[in-house]
Amino acid sequence: MLLIDCPHCGPRDEIEFSYGGEAHVVYPEDPSVLNDAEWGRYLFYRENPKGDFAERWIHSGGCRKWFNAIRNTATYEFKGTYAMGEKAPTIKEGDAK
Ligand SMILES: [Zn+2]
Repeated sequence: MLLIDCPHCGPRDEIEFSYGGEAHVVYPEDPSVLNDAEWGRYLFYRENPKGDFAERWIHSGGCRKWFNAIRNTATYEFKGTYAMGEKAPTIKEGDAK
């Protein structure tokens, strides 16, 4: 069983959570000036690294709040979670939470 540490509720079973994609994708300052390619890049293009990655998650089976997490995409290990608006925790290699 994988536990995910909701910043609002504490550790809970992974089945209570839903993935929300890449974190920290900034909405364009003035979307009306973007051409179709730029708008498409904002909507659909995301990073896909192997290793630590900042992601959005929602505790859909609990508090229903969104939060961010640093997760290793190769090992599925959650290295830290933080509430929306908070700064990402500093993750050192080998740290686990
Ligand atoms: Zn929660």
